[in-house]
Amino acid sequence: MSNENTFVASPEAKAKATKFRVIAFICWILAMAGQVYAIFNLISNEMLTWLIVAIVIILILAVTGNILWKKSNRLDPASEKDGFKFFLQNQLGAIMGILAFLPLVVMILMNKDLDGKSKGIAGAIAGIALVVAGVSGVDFNPPSVEKYTEEIQNQTKDLADLNVADDVYWAKAGNKYHIDSDCYHIRDNAGVTRGTVKESFEQKGISELCKTCRKNAEKARLLPVEEAE
Ligand SMILES: [Zn+2]
Repeated sequence: MSNENTFVASPEAKAKATKFRVIAFICWILAMAGQVYAIFNLISNEMLTWLIVAIVIILILAVTGNILWKKSNRLDPASEKDGFKFFLQNQLGAIMGILAFLPLVVMILMNKDLDGKSKGIAGAIAGIALVVAGVSGVDFNPPSVEKYTEEIQNQTKDLADLNVADDVYWAKAGNKYHIDSDCYHIRDNAGVTRGTVKESFEQKGISELCKTCRKNAEKARLLPVEEAE
């Protein structure tokens, strides 16, 4: 693995990731606070409706936190070298999701004042919320410095195979880069950046070659050979 191609998130990507992480933590903290409030005030037959409302709000907060957390990891991934940190950073959302609901589920099921029906309804809804919050936090394909580095090397080689210079364009939105600055996907876009494949990864997180540009490059590579005949 050559050093010059090792992925290093750009300062902008790191700053964006930090912003996402801070907001994710705020969402999770609010979710936990909501849970504590629900445990102390809303587990009763009279408050059942409000308990359900609280569960929905806590779930929205937890899932929002999870989505932002996963985004931040794509911009600024962990290294696989430290296995524990890698696991924790990528699966933190799942842990937070479980923490946001498990105590509430336990408290609902252990409550002696709830009648059977209320307990069944509240327990089932909180249980489903627990599963949704947990699963939405799992990163099934966790990004890593090593994976990005490998991708950069493969994709740079891919461009070389297409006879194209490592000199590409990308817009702020989306995760594609383009060989042709005039490609219709980015033509009318004001914020187009020019750079190498490596730089597109470092600024955007995950990145890949636009399919239209690939097709055109494949055609252009074949043309001169056919014309020479
Ligand atoms: Zn394109």
